Formats: sequence, C-alpha cells, structure tokens
Amino acid sequence: KASTRLVVMGAAGVGKSSLISQFLYDKFNERYRETVEDLYHEEFEVNGGTVHLEVLDTSGSFSFPAMRKLSIASGNVFILVYGINNKNSFDEVVRLRNQILEQKKDQNPAIVIVGNKADLENDRQIEKDDVELLSYQWNIEHFETSAKNKTNIDRAFKEVLKRAKLPTHLM
Ligand code: GDP
Ligand code: MG
Repeated sequence: KASTRLVVMGAAGVGKSSLISQFLYDKFNERYRETVEDLYHEEFEVNGGTVHLEVLDTSGSFSFPAMRKLSIASGNVFILVYGINNKNSFDEVVRLRNQILEQKKDQNPAIVIVGNKADLENDRQIEKDDVELLSYQWNIEHFETSAKNKTNIDRAFKEVLKRAKLPTHLM
C-alpha cells in the first residue's frame, strides 16, 4: 500500500499542532497544549485505490536530539514552521533544513516552509520578502499562514503533498 509520511517540525509554540488540526479537522484551539509526538493517519480514495497519508506532529523542544533524528529519518516530506513574530523560530527553520538535507541527502526530500501567525502583523519580526528571497535560492516553496484565521493552510499542505506526488485534486 502506498504510504507517505509528512513530518511537521519547528520551534515550540509556533503553531504546528494548530496547523495540522485546521488542515485535518477544521478546528482551532486558543489554549496551548504541549505536544510530545502525535501521529495522524488519513486515507484518500484514488481511482479505486487508497493512498495512505501519515502526519507526524513533533515537539519543538527537542530535549532529545536522537528523537529529532528519528523524526527526520521517518519522513518523506516536511513542513518547517516558524512564527512571523519570532526571529529565533526562523533561525530554527534554517537549522532544521540543514539537518534534513544532511541526513537525507540521497533522497531529495520535499520541504515547504511556513511562516505561521500571519494574523499577528503588528508583532512581525521576520520580513516576508527576506524569506521569499531565501526560499527562492533554496528552491523551496514558502507560505505565510494563520492557523487562527485559517488562511493559506490548504495551499501549504497541498503544495507539500504535490511535491510528495500525492493526487491533491482529490482532497
Ligand atoms: P506548537 O507547539 O508548534 O504545536 O504550537 P501550537 O499549535 O500548540 O500553538 C501554540 C499557541 O499559539 C496556541 O496558544 C495556539 O492557539 C496559538 N496559535 C497557533 N497558531 C496561531 C496563529 O496562526 N495565530 C495566532 N494568533 N495564534 C496561534
Ligand atoms: Mg504542538
């Protein structure tokens, strides 16, 4: 059975769990619940067959570097999330991208970068143009999203699934 694993990574509190919850269940929670690690399974019917998508929601704290390494090893496609209101979280995205490319250099992994909390424009610390320039050089798609307002989330997830060669027109 065809199965693809999407791994969502990024610093703690940037909105990884919220993005997944909006994408899969159309739900948003204002309260913060720390994630250890959650795995979601979704099945999509395609031309009489079934495509199996797994979404791995990770903890951003990574007290265990070995756990991060395992998360990367298990993934086919990656969404790297930062908060547009948090410069440090963008630096973490840069580190994560380096680690993924280093660890999976023979597999040409698909990566999409997401700047979440776009609704917090007044607290912006990362300019969109700067990230666009960098992601262009990296040949990586970049989206600004708001899990709170549900903006751009489907576009971001569909882009990464397209890069994983899943039939996104059915979703
Ligand atoms: P995670 O640690 O990366 O999984 O982050 P969470 O998804 O748990 O979200 C952390 C906090 O940020 C929670 O209180 C969420 O309600 C909030 N949050 C998540 N996404 C957004 C967003 O797009 N805008 C705003 N304003 N808050 C958000
Ligand atoms: Mg979480």
